[in-house]
Amino acid sequence: MHKKLNVHDNLLSMVGCTPLIRLNNITQHFKGEFLAKYEAQNPGLSSKDRIAHYIIEKAEKNGDIKPGDTIIETTSGNTGFSIAMIAAIKGYKCILAVSSKSSKDKISLLKTMGADVTVCPSNVAPEDPRSYYEVAKRIYNETPGSIYINQYFNDLNIDAHYLTTGPEIWEQTQGKITHLVACSGTGGTISGTARYLKEQNPDIKILGIDAFGSVLQKYHETGKFDKSEIYPYKIEGLGKNLIPSATDFDVIDKFTKVTDEDSAYMARDIAKTEGMFVGYTSGAVMQGIKQLAAENEFNSESKVVAIFPDHGSRYMSKVFSDDWMKSQGFTNYPGLEDEQNQSN
Ligand code: PMP
Repeated sequence: MHKKLNVHDNLLSMVGCTPLIRLNNITQHFKGEFLAKYEAQNPGLSSKDRIAHYIIEKAEKNGDIKPGDTIIETTSGNTGFSIAMIAAIKGYKCILAVSSKSSKDKISLLKTMGADVTVCPSNVAPEDPRSYYEVAKRIYNETPGSIYINQYFNDLNIDAHYLTTGPEIWEQTQGKITHLVACSGTGGTISGTARYLKEQNPDIKILGIDAFGSVLQKYHETGKFDKSEIYPYKIEGLGKNLIPSATDFDVIDKFTKVTDEDSAYMARDIAKTEGMFVGYTSGAVMQGIKQLAAENEFNSESKVVAIFPDHGSRYMSKVFSDDWMKSQGFTNYPGLEDEQNQSN
């Protein structure tokens, strides 16, 4: 569980055991105590190191892969980076099918790490042969000596967080956590963490953050897959246009939806108020907390853990670019006001 000091054999021993950082300023008007699980501290700068590490080592133990073999995945970027990092360390080939929604920074990073990257359109149905799911499956079937991580439909994604993120948060809060707030993409983070925490104390509330344009909240509430909920949105890694089996809806108490615009402002606010440079979905989680606080979800006894999934460096051409913000019409923020507003 504990990291060694100073000398590591490689980066793998630095995966997990991330700190909880108290949010002191951005939460000052909310009741309760708020702690961010700072996943940017992982060596690959995101929570996805946990699942890549766990799934690859499990495949090695099962004899499914050996160095020189190929690891294949669909990814919005972070999982790809983690797999590419581990493939480089352990001597595997890495092939990634990524969505065209992924930032240029992320795609360049994957290539820098030695991955073979195929960019697929984001605006086609998952069953379309051009979708990144279908492309990854085809490559897997055509490549001897390969594994397909398949994070949306792999139970090991949940297990990785059940075995690490959950116990860490329980220990770090000495069992006093009352609420977990986390966004849901594959659902692995929220499901595995929640499953562990609910086993310790079923009263802990598990609050999922979803995107407008995603089906997760409606599915959780009605049990029905409603296609009319699906439309394009900007946040990468949050929400989904399908129901991932790596999401355990039973351990989630409620979903809250957040907009691209509010989440973008919040990602910038976290940097300005807490000095914490985290990604777009961390902004989404913080925006969710703001909305939940307004609904009186928390009280002065609450001990709220928010999962901040990744580092801000991956979004320099998106939420942290003034030009990108203006191109989206996200100008209701100091320094981004349009000219008409500024002259008023
Ligand atoms: N934030 C970011 C930036 C991500 O890349 C992801 C995963 N796609 C998530 C949040 C959501 O995590 P999970 O897939 O475990 O639900």
